[in-house]
Amino acid sequence: MKIISINAGSSSLKFSLFDMDSETVIASGVFERIGIDGSCYTIKFNGEKFKEEIEMKDHTKAVSILLDKLTSLNIIKSLDEINGVGHRIVQGKDIFNESVLVDDDVMEKLESIKHFAPLHNPANMLGIKAFQEALPNVPMSVVFDTAFHQTMDKETYLYAVPYEWYEKYGIRKYGAHGTSHRYISETVKDLLKTDKFKLISCHIGNGGSITAIKDGKCVDTSMGFTPLAGIMMGTRSGDVDPSILPPVMEAENKTIDEIINDLNKNSGVLGLSGISSDMRDIEAAYEAGNEKAVLTFNKYIQRIVDYIAEYYVRLGGADVIVFTAGVGENSPLLRKLVCDKLKCLGVEIDEEKNNVRGKLTEISTKDSKVKVYIIPTDEELMIARDTLELIK
Ligand code: ADP
Repeated sequence: MKIISINAGSSSLKFSLFDMDSETVIASGVFERIGIDGSCYTIKFNGEKFKEEIEMKDHTKAVSILLDKLTSLNIIKSLDEINGVGHRIVQGKDIFNESVLVDDDVMEKLESIKHFAPLHNPANMLGIKAFQEALPNVPMSVVFDTAFHQTMDKETYLYAVPYEWYEKYGIRKYGAHGTSHRYISETVKDLLKTDKFKLISCHIGNGGSITAIKDGKCVDTSMGFTPLAGIMMGTRSGDVDPSILPPVMEAENKTIDEIINDLNKNSGVLGLSGISSDMRDIEAAYEAGNEKAVLTFNKYIQRIVDYIAEYYVRLGGADVIVFTAGVGENSPLLRKLVCDKLKCLGVEIDEEKNNVRGKLTEISTKDSKVKVYIIPTDEELMIARDTLELIK
């Protein structure tokens, strides 16, 4: 069985083609600058990289080039080998609490909620439409970043704002990174060989979120109505007091959209440090004693610790803490500094075991009261697994 996972953005389309018998990636790649000058693709297959600048006026063209390359590069013999296509969708609201096969009804529902993630959902849908045109007989699924968080209870997902805002406008916490947190939860279930566990899953990448999970179900998560909320991120502020908006708007003569853009794109690690949004740059500057980098890194760590502590209490303890995504998987320093602050909870890590990047590893000592793991996340595989399950 071969399944393609698709992550379509407004001007890009990432794909991974999986052999689902072995759950391995046969080929993967990215189509960039779709609809913009200088559009190009990169496809990785058999240890080789194929890159070409080629005009792609829209997603339909990108998908047609992708399918053409799959056969012309001998990645597959014929398009008939593709058994299913899974699409990532950023926002499923409270309409979708699990992955589903695409049909007209699903497309209509997606259409009705697209304004909830105006930068992402319409782009995700372009990917679906392009594949519907190219492979009309291949079953397709949609996998939502928000679906895993639909098990949060009402007192968790509601904001303390006028109740009608929720009823009339759907204002509530939806969370994000759900596919990643679900992958982590399923991996922990396999590692512990039980489905009874309390897990704090820390997805720390350029975007970041922390999720409290009990027995495989989300109890709470740090992102909110949008991915702007929660911990401090590469360029996003995380939680702030909304009252900071009017004085800055007035002083800088900015619109609300411009300020929200500042909170999404010019804040977080980038905004506070003035150095970079990339943790590798911040770590290097931190180690060199740069004052702004020290401040930024310490605050970044503190925000992660704050959420872990909150969720430790929420869950009534924790069996496992997991670090995943770009920073979580690759930064021994971040994991050490976070875990040092969790010593009061009986968390203890082995520095030697912690000195690893991007590899599934248990880094806690045998005396630690909480197991600590690095688990490389795999959202693409999760999308392919869901698709396979649905088409079976
Ligand atoms: P995204 O949210 O875009 O999916 P990723 O999970 O890919 O992000 O994480 C990307 C981030 O991971 C980079 O911006 C960088 O900050 C961080 N990162 C990658 N490698 C390292 C490393 N060796 N040490 C520290 N941070 C790293």
